[in-house]
Amino acid sequence: MNPNKHFTERRDFLRLGATGALGMMVAASDLLWQTQPAEAQALPPKTPDQALQELIAGNQRFITNQRQCRNQSLEQLQKVACKQIPFAAILSCADSRVAPEIIFDQGIGDIFDVRVAGNIVTRETRGSIEYAVTALGSQLVVVLGHQRCGAVIAAADNEVLPGDINSFVDAIKPCLKGGKPLLDPQCGKPANVDVAVVQNVQCQVRQLQESTLLGKLCPQNLRIVGAVYSLDTGKVTFI
Ligand SMILES: [Zn+2]
Repeated sequence: MNPNKHFTERRDFLRLGATGALGMMVAASDLLWQTQPAEAQALPPKTPDQALQELIAGNQRFITNQRQCRNQSLEQLQKVACKQIPFAAILSCADSRVAPEIIFDQGIGDIFDVRVAGNIVTRETRGSIEYAVTALGSQLVVVLGHQRCGAVIAAADNEVLPGDINSFVDAIKPCLKGGKPLLDPQCGKPANVDVAVVQNVQCQVRQLQESTLLGKLCPQNLRIVGAVYSLDTGKVTFI
């Protein structure tokens, strides 16, 4: 990532966003898309709703074993080597079973991945999302939680853990409203952690929405949504 280059390219976009000049922002965004080759223009979504539909369609391909695995070649990497325009930014857990490009059947350059245990909003993760939106052109932000998230389980159990593990567990605790989780008969882990996962996702979405920078963008240019990924089925449910 070369921030200086991208910020230079998107300097006008940022300036216009900061002043709230909606019409000019849309024009700048359209111009951004128009700079791409014709072939690439036809593929990426151009609106937040189109981006959401693309993720839903990709997840449907994943759960029905019909992944296209498109844009995952060295050739694709070379296409985006000098410039990336990921249509979505996804704040997801670092869990090894959560892999956005796979579960949404997307390719290199499609998704700006921000991953941290518990998919929490910190200064760094918020800043990364802000960068994806304002400098790279992502129009959809997804906070993606997942079933049986160990970070959420630890927070729900009010565990005190060693080292810096508490850093993300403590960030989740204020988001949870329920009591102690019940046992899951399948995995021996808390069952109603699913409720806690949703609470955490909604809490992190609210924190992203409080971003001053993102708040200057209107709904036509940006959507911030929450979602939960099932480890049992692979299905992502948007909430
Ligand atoms: Zn997790």
